[in-house]
Amino acid sequence: MASGGGNYRNGTHKNSLKGTTTAALKNKSLSSVGASSGLRKSSPGSLGGGGTAKDDAGVPGRVRVAVRLRPRNAEESAADADFADCVELQPEFKRLKLRKNNWHTDTYEFDEVLTEFASQKRVYEVVAKPVVESVLDGYNGTVMAYGQTGTGKTYTLGRLGEEDTADRGIIVRAMEDILADVSLETDSVSVSYLQLYMESLQDLLDPTNDNISIVEDPRSGDVSLPGATLFEIRDQQSFLELLRLGEAHRYAANTRLNTESSRSHALLMVHVKRSVKGGDLTHSSQNGNTTSMAKSLRPTLVRKAKLVVVDLAGSERIDKSGSEGHTLEEAKSINLSLSALGKCINALAENSAHVPIRDSKLTRLLRDSFGGTARTSLVITIGLSPRHRGETASTIMFGQRAMKVENMLKLKEEFDYKSLARKLDIQLDQLIMEHERKQKALEDEIERITMDAQIQISESERNCANLMEKERLKYQKEYKESIKKLEEKWMMNQQKHNEKKMASSAEEVAELKRLLNKEISLRKVAEEEVHSHKSQIAQLKISEASASSEVLKLRKMLEDEAYQKEKLEGEISTLQTQLLQLSFEADETRRRLDLGGPEKVPGSLESLISQARPQVNDLGNGEKASIASLFEQVGLQKILSLLEAEDADVRVHAVKVVANLAAEESNQQKIVEAGGLTSLLALLGSSEDETVHRVAAGAIANLAMNETNQELIMSEGGIHSLSMTAANAEDPQTFRMVAGAIANLCGNDKLQNKLRGEGGIKALLRMVKCGHPDVLAQVARGIANFAKCESRASTQGNKTGRSLLIEDGALPWIVQNANNDASPIRRHIELALCHLAQHEVNAKDMITGGALWELVRISRDCSREDIRNLAHRTLTSSPTFVAELRRLRIDY
Ligand code: ADP
Ligand code: MG
Repeated sequence: MASGGGNYRNGTHKNSLKGTTTAALKNKSLSSVGASSGLRKSSPGSLGGGGTAKDDAGVPGRVRVAVRLRPRNAEESAADADFADCVELQPEFKRLKLRKNNWHTDTYEFDEVLTEFASQKRVYEVVAKPVVESVLDGYNGTVMAYGQTGTGKTYTLGRLGEEDTADRGIIVRAMEDILADVSLETDSVSVSYLQLYMESLQDLLDPTNDNISIVEDPRSGDVSLPGATLFEIRDQQSFLELLRLGEAHRYAANTRLNTESSRSHALLMVHVKRSVKGGDLTHSSQNGNTTSMAKSLRPTLVRKAKLVVVDLAGSERIDKSGSEGHTLEEAKSINLSLSALGKCINALAENSAHVPIRDSKLTRLLRDSFGGTARTSLVITIGLSPRHRGETASTIMFGQRAMKVENMLKLKEEFDYKSLARKLDIQLDQLIMEHERKQKALEDEIERITMDAQIQISESERNCANLMEKERLKYQKEYKESIKKLEEKWMMNQQKHNEKKMASSAEEVAELKRLLNKEISLRKVAEEEVHSHKSQIAQLKISEASASSEVLKLRKMLEDEAYQKEKLEGEISTLQTQLLQLSFEADETRRRLDLGGPEKVPGSLESLISQARPQVNDLGNGEKASIASLFEQVGLQKILSLLEAEDADVRVHAVKVVANLAAEESNQQKIVEAGGLTSLLALLGSSEDETVHRVAAGAIANLAMNETNQELIMSEGGIHSLSMTAANAEDPQTFRMVAGAIANLCGNDKLQNKLRGEGGIKALLRMVKCGHPDVLAQVARGIANFAKCESRASTQGNKTGRSLLIEDGALPWIVQNANNDASPIRRHIELALCHLAQHEVNAKDMITGGALWELVRISRDCSREDIRNLAHRTLTSSPTFVAELRRLRIDY
């Protein structure tokens, strides 16, 4: 079987592991393929899985094999001193070299090679720890030691380490890790400890139980020992005591059987049951909705795993082990299980169709550990001694074959219906008790309330009855009393009545008869009266009817009269309209004549004055007659009243009619007497219409030709009204009319001072800025009139002092226009200069103002002889002028 020197046994082996290369194996330590890194956990089964959740797909996992070399002991040191060791370890290559002879060695490769110096801790970590972790994850696991007696199997697995903690073996350390990982509230750890000797299974925790049967579940293939004692472990200390107890029992049993422990197999079985956290999340009710009820009723999902630690019997051949007192059969029987195990491993390693599991109890017990669903670690123990070279080689070969066995790890989960049912039972009982308590309390409460209510009802009934009785008695008494009183009263009345009745009945009858007669006569009188009243009323009704027809007649007449009146008024207003229309037409005609007629150039002062008068005289005879007739028809008062009419057009027409009338001297007095002048002056102030202003000023100018009227105009503030009219005027004809009116006033001797005092001269002078020759002519006329009156007053001695014209600054304009091209202007100014020059008091101012030269020019050039002479006379009669002329050496 062994290959030549230098060849790796594994590398040359025909049946190399499926899917696992030698190179891959070479560098893989037992720990590196541990549960945490190498295992895939299968998913839990469904609810409908009949309580066992199983997944058929397992995780492949080869049996891991480590070799451990025991240190040389004192006996070996002495005995083997002259011989070379039979093995040599190369832990860095995970190789073991077995010496064949002085020249040849065979090399074997293992998952782990542990030298004589390997600590117990390290052995645990590489051999057992991955298996323990796997068990905690829910997979079955097996750790077993195989080797010749005395090579350290028990040392490796079962050492308690009581003297030295570092000596603790795999079993103690495994339990420590398990207890550290599980939760004692939800998980459980229990232990069985057994010995297999000569195909009989003994319970090391209960020595009386010395033939335990193995039960196999045909469906799942699970092996169980229902007869074995199962101890639940809650702490490490109790576990150690259990182990000690088991050891003691083993020792006692072996003594009894007269054998050694090395000839029996020791099996420790640790059952770990864990609740799976969050397991309920993977399940739901059939329709996919998880209800709270369903949740509360769902059993806990548990994972059950079993760790089996097997300290196998010594692998040496019995005959060689030197045991005595046993028959060969016995010897065969002792090793039956071990050799069956070897055969099974061989079959598995060679993929043989038949694996003789059922040949021994050991193989039946370990059916899961080789070629089954558990994770399995095997440690083979060897010594150095060349004396045991054969046993050592056999052990090595056992290990090599075991390395080829592949397991299929499977997770074992199931629902813990039992504990759920227990829990629910407890809950149900609690609820029943609670319900019973509550029901009792409720019944008691109802009874109490009913009692209370009955007491209250009967009490109320009693009270009510008492009260009613009292009331009844009271009313009865009152009723009796009032009846009694009424009877008494009635008796008394009856008595009185009877007495009265007897005495007065005769008198009463007579009296009543008398009264009846009186009533009858009164009624007759009243009936008669009614009758007469009725006839009177009938009469009155007849007369009332005739009166109302009279009233109707009168009312009709009144209405006719009112209608007539209305008609007449309509006619009057038509006539008035016609009148105004006519007067307007007349005015228009006159205006047309005014504008179209040839310019008149009067040759004297009188003719100038007449120019200011509207040209009534120029009207045709027909019109004159129509106005006169209008005057008579309508009446002056009515026309004047129209000056104040609401309608502006009516006012304009009225003022035009008045102006036309005022143009005729014969009408003037009537107009003034009727208040026309006052109305016209008022119109200047009240109206804003320039036509009204112009026409009214024209009329005033006409009326101002009369001396009496002039005084009236002055007394009524005419200067002020005329000045204001001029100030607001734009039409030169308005200026002309205003200037004409003032010019007329200027010719009144009595009004000189008043006129000047009220600004008449200044008003005249202001109007010259208009520049229209007609206006300038009127201004010049006014100045001439004023100068003439002043001159007259001075001559009569009524005036002293400088001319008011000079005072009011008229001189410059006079000098300026003294030689005006328009003859009417020139003429008036020439006269004015002559009047001013007649008085010595004005001379100086006239010289200063340049008037002297104009006088000289007039005296020489004026076309009118009378004026020329007047100027000359004036110049020569004034000493001042004479002196000045002389001074200027003007020959005069
Ligand atoms: P086995 O169980 O294989 O018959 P044991 O475990 O009883 O062997 O060991 C035999 C002897 O060797 C014991 O005295 C044990 O203390 C000792 N021994 C075994 N292995 C070692 C080791 N690795 N280190 C020190 N002493 C050991
Ligand atoms: Mg032993």
